Amino acid sequence: MRTAAEAGAWGLRERPKRGRLDRVAPIAERPTADTTEGKDAAVSVELTPSAAPRPRAVGETPLPGTEDAGVGGIGPTGRPLPDFPNPPPLTGHGPARVIAMCNQKGGVGKTTTTINLGAALAELGRRVLLVDFDPQGALSVGLGVRSNDLDVTIYTLLVERGHDVREVIQQTRTPDLDLIPANIDLSAAEVQLVGEVAREQILARVLRPVLDDYDVVLIDCQPSLGLLTVNALTAAHGVIIPLECEFFAMRGVALLVETIEKITDRLNPRLQVDGILATMYDGRTLHSREVVKSVVDHFGDQVFHTVISRTVKFPDATLAAEPITSYASAHGAAAAYRQLARELIARGGAA
Ligand code: ADP
Ligand code: MG
Repeated sequence: MRTAAEAGAWGLRERPKRGRLDRVAPIAERPTADTTEGKDAAVSVELTPSAAPRPRAVGETPLPGTEDAGVGGIGPTGRPLPDFPNPPPLTGHGPARVIAMCNQKGGVGKTTTTINLGAALAELGRRVLLVDFDPQGALSVGLGVRSNDLDVTIYTLLVERGHDVREVIQQTRTPDLDLIPANIDLSAAEVQLVGEVAREQILARVLRPVLDDYDVVLIDCQPSLGLLTVNALTAAHGVIIPLECEFFAMRGVALLVETIEKITDRLNPRLQVDGILATMYDGRTLHSREVVKSVVDHFGDQVFHTVISRTVKFPDATLAAEPITSYASAHGAAAAYRQLARELIARGGAA
C-alpha cells in the first residue's frame, strides 16, 4: 500500500501551501459517521491527511476535494467551482427534454440520481417524469410505489398496443414529480421486443404523447447495454453517466461511449452526453480524489462540477421511500443534488 507521501500527499497537482499534515487528528478522533464502507474507511485512515475537519482561516484557499470549497474555490473535480445560480421560474411547461441515466455497471448511483435529481428539478418548479426502466423496480420502490402489485407498468406500454401512457403514470408524494413504474415483468420485454418493427423506438413512441406535459423526463436504465437501454438512448436527448469513485470506475465506460456513438450514428442523431457524474465520493480519501482526477483528465468538461458524496443518508432515504431533498432537506447530500439540478440547467441539459 502506498504511503501518503509516495502518493504526493494530496494526489493533486495544486498542493496547497498550508497543508493539514501538521494538524492530523489521532485516528480515534477522526470522523467516520458518513463513511459507510469499511474498505473506504481503511483507505481513509492510511492515506488521508485531511480527515479531521477544522475551521478555515479567513482568506485561506480551500483544499481541493473538501466540501467547504465555495464558489470560485477549487472544487472537488480540481477545477474552479462556478456559481450555479437559481434559474428563473418557467412561464410555461414542455416539451420535455429526455435524459437517460446510463451505466451498464450496477450500483453506481443511477437510481439514486434519477430520484434525487428529479426531486431537485421539481423543487425548481420543473415538471418531471421519471421512467423506471429497470426490471428490478428500484426507482418505483424508492418512491414508495409497490410496483409488484401493479397490473399496468412500463412493460404493458411496451408490449401491448392500445394503452394510454397516462393510465400508467403515478403521482409521487413530491409535487411535480411523476413516475412510470416498472416491475419484474419488464425483464421479459427484451426478448419479446426483438421481433418487433422499429424495436429500438418503442419507448420513444410510448413517451411521445406526454412530452408536452413535462419539462424533463429522466429514464433510469437497467445495468446492461441491451435492447431496453438502446430504447432509452433512442428516446433521449441526452445521457448522464454516473461513475462511482472506485477503482475500475472507468472500466466499461469506453464500451458505453461506443454504444452512445453508434446510436447517434444510426438511430438518434440528436443524442448527446449531458455529463459524467462522480458519485460516492469521499473527499477525505486520496483514492476518491485520484479517481475523480483521472475521470476529469479523460473526459474534461464533460464531468459535472458537482460530485455526490458517499453518505448513509442515501440508503436511509431509499428505505424511507423519499427523495433526499425531503428526507434530509438540510443535509449536504440534498444540497449536492440541488446543485446538480442547477448545473444541469446552466449547461442547457434541462429547461
Ligand atoms: P444503480 O441504480 O446504479 O444500481 P443505486 O442508485 O441503486 O445504483 O445505488 C446502489 C446502492 O448504493 C443503493 O443502496 C444506494 O442507496 C447506495 N448509494 C447510492 N448513492 C450513494 C451515495 N452517494 N452514498 C452512499 N450510498 C449510495
Ligand atoms: Mg438502479
